[in-house]
Amino acid sequence: MRTLFVTHASGLTHNMGPGHPEQPDRLRAIERHLENERFQALARVDAVAAPREALLRVHPESYLSALERSVPREGLTALDPDTLLCPHTLEAAFHAAGGAVAAVDEVMSGSADTAFVAVRPPGHHAGPTTAMGFCFLNNVATAARHAAAVHGAERVAIVDFDVHHGNGTQEIFWADRNVLFCSTHQAPYYPGTGATGERGDFDTIVNAPLWAGAGGDDFHEALTTVVLPRVKRFEPDLLLISAGFDAHQNDPLGGLRLTEHDFSEATKRLMDVADRSAKGRVVSLLEGGYDLDALGRSVSAHVLALMGA
Ligand SMILES: [Zn+2]
Repeated sequence: MRTLFVTHASGLTHNMGPGHPEQPDRLRAIERHLENERFQALARVDAVAAPREALLRVHPESYLSALERSVPREGLTALDPDTLLCPHTLEAAFHAAGGAVAAVDEVMSGSADTAFVAVRPPGHHAGPTTAMGFCFLNNVATAARHAAAVHGAERVAIVDFDVHHGNGTQEIFWADRNVLFCSTHQAPYYPGTGATGERGDFDTIVNAPLWAGAGGDDFHEALTTVVLPRVKRFEPDLLLISAGFDAHQNDPLGGLRLTEHDFSEATKRLMDVADRSAKGRVVSLLEGGYDLDALGRSVSAHVLALMGA
């Protein structure tokens, strides 16, 4: 089993100001936990910036150039109350999407089995022309479209277990019959979407909302009864995970009660499904997770599972 760990130093320079929960220390916490000798077998790869054409499969040129014009020389430019550009944000965002693309290249070409992409800013709230909820470019959507366009993937499944609904990803793939988007998330909660009735034009959107206070049993029940059967039936060539760890019980933003063990179990169950139709190909991308210690422990558990350890 060869597992990639993809990251980039620019993720440490995107800083939305003191007290913002989506902070550079998140990546430092992950790095610190992955210094453990259990992770020696990881193949560590530096992300490259995403090629423009990869981003253009998700975001129009007008949006990308508007983002570029909005970058401040110094200080911060707010695109929404929680989503701010600093002078280094776009470099980090281009490398975050580029890390996702590179991981897809490695896994689709067979030079790696699984990959975890530890980058920020996250992406699942970003729509084609909307930055919101700490997200600027939709990394997982860029990865899915790249897999189809460059590697001939006919069906890509995305499973999003961040505590927040991946509204941007849902919007991008609403009318795309070749991408299955499945989400577990707390509801009602930010950003307000993700009801079970939201199914997309081709019934390829699958939402499994969880009440505030739901724990591991409820999460695994949602996987067992809703998410995993749909992914199996879809028979994807590639499984992408929008891996947010803010459904952890210690997370300051989320109201669910998952533990790192739940993330490990969910990862193993998703890998079993990927074994059936996708030759085990799994690429996982960091989304949320704001308690630094819980984030580090959860990513460790998730990556160990991806390593088959
Ligand atoms: Zn989140």
